[in-house]
Amino acid sequence: MAIKQPKALNPFAEAVAQFDAAADRLNLSQELRAILRAPKRELTVNFPVRMDDGRVEMYTGYRVQHNINRGPAKGGIRFDANVSLDEVRALAMWMTWKCAVVNIPFGGAKGGVIVDPRKLSRTELERLTRRYATEIAGVIGPESDIPAPDVNTNPQVMAWIMDTYSMHRGYSVPAVVTGKPLSIGGSEGRMEATGRGVSVVAREACKALGMELKGARVIIQGFGNVGSITAKLLHEAGCRIVALSDVYGAIHNPDGIDVPVALRYVQEHGALNGLPGAEPVDGKAALELPCDILIPAALEGQLTHLNAPRIQAKLVVEAANGPTTTEADAILHERGIHVVPDILANAGGVTVSYFEWVQDLQHFFWAEDEINQRLEHIMTRSFAAVQAKREEQNCDYRMAAYLLAVARVAEATQVRGIYP
Ligand code: NAD
Repeated sequence: MAIKQPKALNPFAEAVAQFDAAADRLNLSQELRAILRAPKRELTVNFPVRMDDGRVEMYTGYRVQHNINRGPAKGGIRFDANVSLDEVRALAMWMTWKCAVVNIPFGGAKGGVIVDPRKLSRTELERLTRRYATEIAGVIGPESDIPAPDVNTNPQVMAWIMDTYSMHRGYSVPAVVTGKPLSIGGSEGRMEATGRGVSVVAREACKALGMELKGARVIIQGFGNVGSITAKLLHEAGCRIVALSDVYGAIHNPDGIDVPVALRYVQEHGALNGLPGAEPVDGKAALELPCDILIPAALEGQLTHLNAPRIQAKLVVEAANGPTTTEADAILHERGIHVVPDILANAGGVTVSYFEWVQDLQHFFWAEDEINQRLEHIMTRSFAAVQAKREEQNCDYRMAAYLLAVARVAEATQVRGIYP
């Protein structure tokens, strides 16, 4: 029998290593560590989908709930060819810490289907989504586990999930997912929330580190929901966006890319490639170009021991989940490059998801201004708490955020006790 080689990068191993480092510093007991390391529930579903040409194809999906001691599980659903159980486990664990670091009453979960949605027609994508939603319907619900969009899923996908779940109940259950279209109980500001939160955190980090936000040179990897909104808001704040990338490649202009033009270009052409006034560059090389702030906003594992020695940024703001490997983190730290971790930097999305869920449960909706103000408040408050912890503990931002988050989840776990 062939021996399976370990994967070069296992996101769950990365997530556990980050947790262990914080647990060591918090002096958590071995029992508590074992509880907090283990995902509470892991559901794997294999299901058939009828394709447009009549063929039937099998797909595999997951829903993992990591820890629900502070409230219902919360986390996005990803459709991607590279989804794996270990990736979903890692993302679920990060959600637990993320909800805790911004102190919203949720636990962590994540879901995913192994599929390249670009290869599906709209009707195939709808059938896949509805079947996956039905397969996981036993574990999701407004009181138990509330999905949201993630890579390659969007408000339309959330609408199909909400509709499918509601059909099985016989009445509308808007609070079963967040990130829905406004017309069915979505929240104002949700689409922009993650990018808005990233830009608030970048601004606060610049203040804390004595860096000027206005005129700062910024590189953003990924130009989807999070990357594009972050680019737009930082451009509006006076930053110079010197490089952008998407799955097809990267573009560079040291004088600054006109972000509104790039947004329109991508809407028309589907990719950044060919944007007038910017040079095409290799996607990986783009991360190493001169800049002040580097914002990975695509996928995990992008900053590794291979490129970390060449990163030129002074500040990395992790808009994506898990973009920096543990090794890269150590190298960046040694080189004096500050890294604001994902669990804080991209928590704006789950924060407004929380607002959406509250609005759905109350059937009472807030204006966009109110939402953005509340988001701003939670993100600045959370950044300040992490900054204070960092100074108190003389550690980096990731450790400070983990110390806060893990301590909150550990406390909730302890006070609830072991059942029975
Ligand atoms: P998205 O699907 O809208 O966009 C992903 C972007 O990344 C696309 O532009 C894609 O072309 C690009 N991309 C993919 N592979 C790439 C590569 N190898 N190099 C460069 N670009 C690449 O997804 P999103 O919702 O913007 O999510 C991006 C990241 O942010 C993910 O890590 C996700 O988990 C995280 N996140 C998203 C939210 C949210 O509210 N959407 C919240 C928190 C965290």
